[in-house]
Amino acid sequence: MSTPRFRIAPSPTGFFHVGGARTALYNWALAKRLGGTFVLRIEDTDEARNRPEWNQGIVDALAWIGIHSDDPAFEGPYLQSNFATEHLAAANRLYAAGHAYYCDLTPEQIQERSKANGKPGYDGYSRDRGVAPGPGRAMRFRVPSGSTVVHDAVRGGVTFDNDTIEDFVLLRGNGSPMFMLANVVDDITMRISHVIRAEEHLPNTPKQQMLWNALGETPPVWAHVPVLVNEQRKKISKRRDKVALESFRDEGYLSDAMVNYLMTLGWAPKGDTEIVPWATIEQNFRLEDVTHSPAFFDLKKLAAFNGEYIRALPVDDFVNAIEPWLAIWREAHPEAVWNQDVLVAMAPLVQTRIVTLAEAPGMIDFLFLADPVMDEASVTKVLRSADADLVLVSTIESFAAGEWVAESIKTAFERVAEAHGLKLGKAQAPVRVAVTGRTVGPPLFESLELLGRDEVLRRLHVGRTLTGGA
Ligand code: GLU
Repeated sequence: MSTPRFRIAPSPTGFFHVGGARTALYNWALAKRLGGTFVLRIEDTDEARNRPEWNQGIVDALAWIGIHSDDPAFEGPYLQSNFATEHLAAANRLYAAGHAYYCDLTPEQIQERSKANGKPGYDGYSRDRGVAPGPGRAMRFRVPSGSTVVHDAVRGGVTFDNDTIEDFVLLRGNGSPMFMLANVVDDITMRISHVIRAEEHLPNTPKQQMLWNALGETPPVWAHVPVLVNEQRKKISKRRDKVALESFRDEGYLSDAMVNYLMTLGWAPKGDTEIVPWATIEQNFRLEDVTHSPAFFDLKKLAAFNGEYIRALPVDDFVNAIEPWLAIWREAHPEAVWNQDVLVAMAPLVQTRIVTLAEAPGMIDFLFLADPVMDEASVTKVLRSADADLVLVSTIESFAAGEWVAESIKTAFERVAEAHGLKLGKAQAPVRVAVTGRTVGPPLFESLELLGRDEVLRRLHVGRTLTGGA
């Protein structure tokens, strides 16, 4: 058997849709399991919309999730616009064999006829009129009578009545190829064996299968994967939802988490957890196990996956992973005094508390700034509350002497909480806000230890000036 060949064929839009990423991963997983190859083809023939710089964006987005063209014959990206000659040659073959004909009707005339027939679409008017090729004349495919059965690896057999399919356009009146033709000719040229793509292309498939047959080729394995929907069960779209793969990358989702989560949209690994390494996915992914129903693109679940992947990183890898966000932060805060040892000491505590890498600087900035950035809402809610000043006064007293390590700081503080009849968490709040500027952050006593006694006492005094009670 010849090598299975997979592809994705995105049209450039300026960003890479998470649905496209899921489709790419399904193709990639199967290509790997079956020892096949994968091609990236950019369908850039819509000249009005296409911008060449977007192509690199697609390559980069795929690279982030571990995918690249790996077919030696078509090292990508393969641009559809470079293959107009092949598209035209195929159209001419179809015409010469009688599978296609020219039509000289204008769009207005077609509309008038359709109105008069009471049937939408083109009615095949020029099928047997022998219209010669010429400017303004479109080439149309002669749809045979009968029916077309598409064998879809996800959905099973889907039957289309050919009467419902109009004689579709292959070449526009200006001679340029239509998507339907270019897409099929490219798949044939690349000897694609599996077309795995979004469900919205299923209505195109009978037409494309007819083209494969008319060109004397065996159609590929088809598979149409379910749409992604939001919480309201609406198809996710750029207008309403966060759909760009790049935005997840830039917010600090780990690519492994993203890949694992995307794979579970319409498919689930067997066993009691969906969180599985790529090797397991690759061994087990089967089109037959992909569901038909729409898949919920659940941001909360994605965040949970990411949190798990972040927690599972060895600390050194975590420190490396957050570095790009820390670098951005340092650039924005030239006044900060950076201390890598403090970061490394803090890293394991931060790692268990963040959901995206981008949250890292906000968890630790107070350690490197002369004064913490005070969050107004936290100041109002916590420092201006009833017991805040009293708690700070007692804390200052009890922190003045004694050993300065997290455990002993905690013991000292427990006595403060007890003296005020407060639970530890409640008593901690004003101290945390005074020292870090916020109500949430890494474990408090470890943070205090790293900051050092003198600095903690100084910040507690400053905190008192904000309580209104000092
Ligand atoms: N260019 C099409 C799209 O971006 C893909 C067509 C296909 O996968 O066959 O939706």
